[in-house]
Amino acid sequence: MTDIQLLPAVVDFLARPHGHFIDGQYRSGDSDRLIDVYNPSTGQVVSRFHDASAADVDSAVQGARRAFKGAWAEVSPYEKGVILNRLADLIEANGEELAQLETLCSGKSINLSRGLEIAQSVVFLRYFAGWATKITGQTMTPSLPSFNGERYTAFTLREPVGVVAGIVPWNFSVMIGIWKIASALVTGCTIVVKPSEFTPLTLLRIAELAVQAGVPAGAFNVVNGTGRAGQALIDHCDVAKVAFTGSVPTGIAVGKAAMAANLTRATLELGGKNPAALLADVDVDAAVAGILQTAYVHQGQVCASPERLYVHRSKVEAFTQKLAAALQQLKIGSALDQDAQFGPLANQAHLQKILGYFERARSNNTVVCGARQVERPGYFVEPTVILANGADDPLLHEETFGPIVCVLPFDDEEQLVTLMNDSPFGLTASIWTNDLSKAFRLIPQIEAGTVWVNMHTFLDPAVPFGGSKASGVGREFGSAFIDDYTELKSVMIRF
Ligand code: NAD
Repeated sequence: MTDIQLLPAVVDFLARPHGHFIDGQYRSGDSDRLIDVYNPSTGQVVSRFHDASAADVDSAVQGARRAFKGAWAEVSPYEKGVILNRLADLIEANGEELAQLETLCSGKSINLSRGLEIAQSVVFLRYFAGWATKITGQTMTPSLPSFNGERYTAFTLREPVGVVAGIVPWNFSVMIGIWKIASALVTGCTIVVKPSEFTPLTLLRIAELAVQAGVPAGAFNVVNGTGRAGQALIDHCDVAKVAFTGSVPTGIAVGKAAMAANLTRATLELGGKNPAALLADVDVDAAVAGILQTAYVHQGQVCASPERLYVHRSKVEAFTQKLAAALQQLKIGSALDQDAQFGPLANQAHLQKILGYFERARSNNTVVCGARQVERPGYFVEPTVILANGADDPLLHEETFGPIVCVLPFDDEEQLVTLMNDSPFGLTASIWTNDLSKAFRLIPQIEAGTVWVNMHTFLDPAVPFGGSKASGVGREFGSAFIDDYTELKSVMIRF
């Protein structure tokens, strides 16, 4: 098993001095703080970038503001759609380069970078491009009677809110970045994106492609840095909306900071502790295949992944044994190795967090498989199945964001609903059954933004996605995103 050969374009790109993309230009930035970028498969530094200064953030927001009032406002809705489609074509054409860059920084399997991160970014971008010509207000007849025979009519306009600050996590930096970039541009907003400090490079390359696609200077900017740069963006008086994806604690801080800054509107896509319920009639082999695919993809570092499994008592033994057997067959290896089926965690800090959960599990739980670090360079751990120590087990309540599934038996469906809803989070859930009438009875009782049946973590651009309870505020995709990126202006006319 060997790593793929890096494209010369990737090697050249890594060697560049990195910083930001502001007002249509690559800028190394004026700060002397350099942040290293690590390859999670080796633990080695692959590149570094200049942390954004307050002046870099200000310059990006000013550029975005000019483009919002000028160049992007002058582009017709039809042409906006054409430009976004052109960007999708360019991302597709440069897909291998982008996939390699993303894999190097994030530790995402090269197969997943190609087939999901890049390929799905293209699909989502094309979907959003279609909305450019379909964003409209409504006409209505005012309801009150006239006093002196005068008449009234009214209509609404959907106006772009302005400059959007898009703050993105490290797990799907391209795809989540594209959701925000496309939502902003298609509604007529402009955007400054701040990628995670762990995955700063790929969106910089995509910003270059956006210029090639015809996105005018300033409409799409990237500033790189830590949470400090994110905070400076939120505090900026010319930012009209914050679109944040990340953890619950950071999301709460971001929401408060946005409110305090300027009553700035904020959408928050946050973490989860997502339940999957395997009912008594479940097809165990199908459920094993499904859970294997969804709970362990990208080493479990997926916000929507199931981490707590409620399995009907009659199926626990068969399910856990078959899942463990399948996990032990997975080939663990470098993210750049096309034959590897399970790669590294994304960064050293996350590795330490997951090792902490392993330690707790080894002292308090039955470990069915895994819960060990893999002895090799980089940030590798074994895929893990743990039996919960009762309904209050912290492993059923804290988001690990890793390849750890915690299983608890249940006996009846009333108890199941209580267990599934016993969480401050409400991002996703799934029900695995051959009996659709049971699934339909359960769906309305489950507190989650998305409920899947016989699958989990299946995102479609036409279907709204977002969290209920502490998993977030707002929805992406479908037509739902339009509300969050536009202001509704009401116009009334007397005649
Ligand atoms: P994180 O919250 O640590 O960081 C997210 C982003 O916020 C990064 O760019 C970071 O630099 C920035 N940031 C940190 N502090 C900030 C501050 N004070 N002000 C402004 N920005 C700040 O999250 P992470 O570790 O990068 O990502 C993992 C988390 O993201 C998990 O909890 C996961 O569930 C969640 N997530 C949610 C979704 C979703 O759609 N609901 C999708 C992917 C990931």
